[in-house]
Order: sequence, then C-alpha cells, then structure tokens
Amino acid sequence: MTYTRGLHCRECGREYPIAPTYVCAFCFGPLEVTYDYDAIGAALTRERIAGRRPTMWRYRELLPVDGDEVVEINTGFTPLVEATNLARRLGIERLLLKNDCVNPTYSFKDRVVSVAVTKALEFGFETIACASTGNLAMSVAAHAARAGKRAVVFIPSDLELGKVYGALVFNPILVAIDGTYDDVNRLCTEIADAYRWAFVNINVRPYYAEGSKTLAYETAEQLGWRAPDNVVVPMASGSLFTKIWKGFNELAKVGLIDPPKTRMFGAQPEGCSPIATAYAKKTFAVRPVRPNTIAKSLAIGNPADGYYALKAMEESGGGAAAVSDEELIEGIKLLAETEGIFAETAGGVTIAVLKKLVERGELPRHGTTVAYITGNGLKTMEALEGHLADAIRIPPTLAAFEAAFAARERALVPA
Ligand SMILES: [Zn+2]
Repeated sequence: MTYTRGLHCRECGREYPIAPTYVCAFCFGPLEVTYDYDAIGAALTRERIAGRRPTMWRYRELLPVDGDEVVEINTGFTPLVEATNLARRLGIERLLLKNDCVNPTYSFKDRVVSVAVTKALEFGFETIACASTGNLAMSVAAHAARAGKRAVVFIPSDLELGKVYGALVFNPILVAIDGTYDDVNRLCTEIADAYRWAFVNINVRPYYAEGSKTLAYETAEQLGWRAPDNVVVPMASGSLFTKIWKGFNELAKVGLIDPPKTRMFGAQPEGCSPIATAYAKKTFAVRPVRPNTIAKSLAIGNPADGYYALKAMEESGGGAAAVSDEELIEGIKLLAETEGIFAETAGGVTIAVLKKLVERGELPRHGTTVAYITGNGLKTMEALEGHLADAIRIPPTLAAFEAAFAARERALVPA
C-alpha cells in the first residue's frame, strides 16, 4: 500500500509519475514526492505508530515506498537526549540532542539510504551507487550488502580514514576522485546518464531525501507529539534542513501535531558556508564556493537545496550562522565534556553555531531547542589531533604514576 501520488516540480509544479527521475524536463527544477495526506491522516494515528517497532519505518505511510519489504538495519528512533549540562552552560532553558551518532553506520545517512535502496529495488536496479562526502559511502555500502546488491561508491580522495575503511569493510567498489565533492558529484551525474545504476542522491534523490523527514517525526513523537520551538541543523546540500521542516509540517497536515511554530536554524563551517553567507547577505541567490574546511561531511560548495533551505528559514523565522574550524573543534569538545556524546565535525559545527546564535540573541533562550547531531566522532578523529590533552605515559610502577599524576594535577590547577 502506498500513499504517494507522484512527483512534482518544486519550481513549476508540473507533475510526473513515480520513476527514477529527479529533474523537471521543462524547467530543470528538482522533483519532489507528493502524497495523499487525507488518506494518510485517516490511516495513521499516534496509537498505531506507538504499536510499531522503534525504527524510522514506524512512519512508513509518510515514506515513498510501495511494498512491505524494506532494506534496513534498524535505523532510527535514535535517542532524544535531555542536555541539561550543555543547556546550563549555554544559558538556555531547555536543550535536547537528537543523537544520530548511534545509527547502524553512525550517521543520519542511514535514514535516507534505507529509503533510497528500498526504492531502487522496487525500480529493479541491481547496482546501488552514490557520490559521497563519506558518511553516505559507508551507509550505501552497508545497505547494498544487506540487500545483496553491488555497491559502487564515489568519494573525494582526501577523506578521513574512518570513513574510507568504514565503507570498504562492506566490500563495495570504492572510487576515490582527485577533486572536491562537487567534482565527484558532476562526474557521477554523467555516469548516472550512461549506466543503469541507482545513484541514491542523483536519480533516486527525490525518494532518498524523504528519509530525512523521519528526524522530524521522531523528534515530535519523543517530545510527546509536539514540534520543538527551535532547531539547529547542520547544512551541506541543505536537503536535511528542508526535509526536517517538511516533516514537522506534514505531521500537522495529517493531524498528528498542531501546526509547527518551530524556528529553523542552519549551521555551516566558515570554510564552506554558501547558504549561511546568502542568509547573512539577505539574498536567496546562493553563490557556489570552493570548500576549505575540516568539516568534510559539510563540504558541498554548490548546495542543491540551498535556495529551499533559505526559504524554510524565512517561513519559520529562523536563520543561519557559520563557525571557524577552531570553533567547531571547541564545539566537539564542549558537547563531549558536558553530555558525553562524541560527534563528528558536523556536530561540532552544530553546537558551535548554537552557541553563537544564543550569544548573538538570534536564537531565543526560552523554549525547547533541539540540536541535530548527525554523525559519530570516531569517523573524524583526525580533526582532533593536537587539540586534546596527551595521555600520561609511564613505566608500570606506583612511583612513576604518582609523580606523573602530581605533575598533571599541578598543570591543571593554576597556582
Ligand atoms: Zn518544472
């Protein structure tokens, strides 16, 4: 049973049947899945959802798949952690962290990939491919392994080792390109035209992107069926940001929550901040940049959904900010030291931007704020090199321990 109606162009509104296609033949606008919300509203209740397994698929009526068979590794329904220490440190009333570090391949990408691979199988594809900044490569390789299909994943050649090995362990064909993510994406668009492969974030992108909505559904359910007052979301292509906004609005459309008054705030690293820069300049014209940041998972210089992310900021009364690489490292450490969560560089960007927005008075101190922590820090350990206290290294004697320990204590307590 499916509740999808078809695809429609986000620019000119022309409608298309469900197919592995992503761009309007008339105006080249991006295509998006449409649903029969009346039928979903009649079928989907809070009780019905509560009776299902705690994964992202408990909201399946709101996802663009036909059958009951889905490709998944128990993704989603990740913890919404009450962050009292960090809230106190930042001086805000209530902060919760949506911790997607704990998904099967340790990032939110499992949500989009689970939908994309399920849809790719429905379309009859035998090869699953992607252009990736790292997290996606790992997730595509894992889901293809789960589905028994071939994976061909393309990455920039300068990625963190944790992401390279994290993908390779699933035995995909891994292609490392000497260039930026935007170069990788351009090449993959050409390959997608020439080969009958399901590129999850190219020709299957309209379905893939819908998976991100589950972050909004879960947040609302975990808050007792209400949308938060403010959210902070990292932005690369801007897709995640727009889909979280769409997700809250859909829940209202089908009668599961009141219309959201959530203010949507986006986070980018200064070394790749085309969307935050456009916001600061009060323009909807996103100017592509050449990325130069250690937040590689956010290093998309030409963001496909940048315009729509800016629209969501305008509609919701939100905003955006960017932080330096030094600030994002401080963000990683602040999150770890206050809440015991080790986020990747993107999470450091999110926390550092949250801090900046609060200090600037742009994000209200009152109300409930949710920050999205989208990937695990063990994948980007290189970023922390030289930024943490060294281990105390000693021979195995009590005297050596006591001498070194006393020295460390003296170093930590200023005279
Ligand atoms: Zn169009």
